[in-house]
Amino acid sequence: MQTLATLLAFFNATRVVEDLHTLQSFGATGGGRFGLGVSRRALTEADVRAREWLASRFEDAGLRQVRLDGIGTVYGEGGSDQAPALLIGSHSDTQPQGGWLDGALGVIFGLEAARVLHQGGAPGAWALAAWQDEEGRFGSLTASSAFAAESGGLPTVHSHEELHDARLRAGLDGKQIVTMADRPAGWLGYMEAHIEQGPQLELLNKTVGIVSSIVGMRQLIIRCRGEQNHAGSTRMADRKDATRAAMRLSVAVDDSLRSLCEAEYEDECLAVWTFAKLTGFVSHSTIPGDANLTLQFRAPEEALLERMERLVRKTVSTFQDAATCDVFHDRQSVSARQMDPGLQACLTEAARSTLGVERVHHMHSAAIHDASPIASIMPASMLFVPSIEGKSHTFDEHTHEADIRDGARVFAAAVAALTLGHCSAEGLACASNGGSVDLDDD
Ligand SMILES: [Zn+2]
Repeated sequence: MQTLATLLAFFNATRVVEDLHTLQSFGATGGGRFGLGVSRRALTEADVRAREWLASRFEDAGLRQVRLDGIGTVYGEGGSDQAPALLIGSHSDTQPQGGWLDGALGVIFGLEAARVLHQGGAPGAWALAAWQDEEGRFGSLTASSAFAAESGGLPTVHSHEELHDARLRAGLDGKQIVTMADRPAGWLGYMEAHIEQGPQLELLNKTVGIVSSIVGMRQLIIRCRGEQNHAGSTRMADRKDATRAAMRLSVAVDDSLRSLCEAEYEDECLAVWTFAKLTGFVSHSTIPGDANLTLQFRAPEEALLERMERLVRKTVSTFQDAATCDVFHDRQSVSARQMDPGLQACLTEAARSTLGVERVHHMHSAAIHDASPIASIMPASMLFVPSIEGKSHTFDEHTHEADIRDGARVFAAAVAALTLGHCSAEGLACASNGGSVDLDDD
């Protein structure tokens, strides 16, 4: 009879650290403060070689049907094929100038958990995925979104041609893409480990973060129309400068979002927004007739995102200027997602018994993860470990080895407890945002 202790006897933190360093060697740039920079964008040669190596590690961990699917996700299953499986995943692609742990950490934590389950002869079923293109070379959360989509098949991407060429070069053309529907016995829930990518855990001197929700994101374009004319000879009173209108509006929108956020949260504003890409320049001697301003904002709750968007629209529609401005959706939004309370409790118990209650912090994720689309189809949860100085998406990204070792142990303990039935998902995650399971990311 397996117990938590007999399973965790197989946990080995040293092979976690070794595997992370091996994975870092694929696409290593040597850059950054710790010499650990990585450039391993989705479906580049370094990425495909890393995934082939991962596939061999998946097989060593006793996983079945291990494969690179049609988009390069490395996938395998363990345990019974008759029981609902616990899905474990993260991504192994990086940003163009990325860190060695963003994504990779969660893949190797999952790999170690799968080894523990396999070697300990755990009951139940599990599956492991190293998702492709979380970082958005071709789409947005490309493979995990395709996995969660009802229709299956090719995911939503910016350029099908570019993706097609990359799949051909990687030898993946004609292969199926893994989707949730591929497993008739179904799913128990989803677990993902990740670096925090922010400074909170380090500032609070905590070792792990249990994620309660993942922010949602919306991106809007504020489009202003004025009148193009000569920059020198047009009188000030006659100018209809589209860029000026867009800049004035950016200040007005920023002010109104600030007041909303401050009214909503007493201590710290949990929503963030960025203005970027002001277009409209023709020449220094021309008054711009058209200007577009991009606004992206994130918040931990869908209701707040909705209020923010309404406020932006109201601010724009009541704005007075010689030029006129409108608001449009720029790209597909990502919904804010609540993490499953049962799975959070499972991680919390594992963290408290492994590290002590004072090392554990509960927090929302300000970054978007593969767990976001997966949470639309099954209960999901995430575990964070600290990032040194909160740095990520840079060659300088790093985490103390002690935190990596402790985090991996907590993750393996939670996964083992789930397969032993010591804790379980509540299954409310899908419904907690809007009352129904929605497969649409809007
Ligand atoms: Zn990531």
